[in-house]
Amino acid sequence: MAEKTPEIWVFGDYRNYFQNRVTLQLLSRAHDLAGKTGAIVCAVVFGQGVQEWVGEYIAHGANRVYVVEDASLAYYSTDLYVAVMESLARQCSPEIILVGATSFGREFAPRVAKRLGTGLTADCVGLDINTEGLLVQTAPAFGGNLLSRIITPRTRPQMATVRPGTFQEIPHNYQAEGETVRVPLPQNLPKDRVRLISSERKPAGSQKLEDSPVVVCGGRGMGSKSRFRNLNELARLLGGEVGATRPVVYSRWAEEDSMVGQADKHIRPKVLFSFGVSGAIQHTAGIIDAGFVIAVNKNPNAAMMKMADVAIVADANQVCLALIKELKKRLRS
Ligand SMILES: Cc1cc2nc3c(=O)[nH]c(=O)nc-3n(C[C@H](O)[C@H](O)[C@H](O)COP(=O)(O)OP(=O)(O)OC[C@H]3O[C@@H](n4cnc5c(N)ncnc54)[C@H](O)[C@@H]3O)c2cc1C
Repeated sequence: MAEKTPEIWVFGDYRNYFQNRVTLQLLSRAHDLAGKTGAIVCAVVFGQGVQEWVGEYIAHGANRVYVVEDASLAYYSTDLYVAVMESLARQCSPEIILVGATSFGREFAPRVAKRLGTGLTADCVGLDINTEGLLVQTAPAFGGNLLSRIITPRTRPQMATVRPGTFQEIPHNYQAEGETVRVPLPQNLPKDRVRLISSERKPAGSQKLEDSPVVVCGGRGMGSKSRFRNLNELARLLGGEVGATRPVVYSRWAEEDSMVGQADKHIRPKVLFSFGVSGAIQHTAGIIDAGFVIAVNKNPNAAMMKMADVAIVADANQVCLALIKELKKRLRS
């Protein structure tokens, strides 16, 4: 019997598509990995009326798209989606399953791994194939002080969640062709324990933090929520987005989705402003791909100052306000 071509699956997370393109980024990486193993790249989409995503995933590198369409899957439901994924994976035995480390992915993927009796590396920041053809999953370990390289030698599929922004998507290819495989909804699905009452789309900023060419990042050194808000004004004037450190997000000075670092966003702006940020490794893990870095800190020895191209020893809020004033003056003239 001819051997089945191995498959690399990417779970299609299409919520907030325009803000969060992690599925496309994973398809791109899956494409590179498939080049090393001879696998084919498959996207997996659940939902209702998902044809638009099928085309989108093929245009971004999927050779095949598995589609399970049903009214019961119209909204993300962990219970149902996990059960459908388990059933599909048992039928098709993919070698690798990749899921975006979004809030949903972080809930969904470990449950699928448990059901399939396999391992999962969470929050990967790198994926590769080793000489034995195994998936090497790079993820921060020991509080982010080390990067570990993890393999899953014995069980299948090899599973990983990957942080949004880690990989770059392939440009849309209108000529790309792919196969669509429609799979009926499995029988005997569990009853959904969560009832969705309403769902509202969160208003998006002008662009996504991970894609913004300019990011103004603030840390605890901004001193207070009201001072931190000045960074929003500065980012607006610079045409950029605001990022934050974890303590800032936990203090509710900034939105949860603005957290930059190993626990959340990986950004790659051309210009990064960093105000009152110490430069802990857990934060800098998310900014290593930034281009030109300007840091403001009252401590010249802060790690952030050492990695900056321009390090300004000063009060972060005062520099922020001075920049706002200067930019407004220039915009008026
Ligand atoms: C498992 C784990 C995961 C983590 N993940 C993340 C993550 O993803 N992202 C993240 O950011 N953190 C993360 N952290 C937390 C991280 O270790 C640091 O604690 C955090 O990044 C520090 O934030 P900060 O720089 O805002 O605050 P601080 O460390 O308190 O630094 C404040 C800085 O501001 C300077 N400062 C103070 N006042 C002023 C002033 N008036 N003007 C100018 N400068 C001033 C100080 O000199 C200092 O350098 C994680 C920690 C753990 C254990």
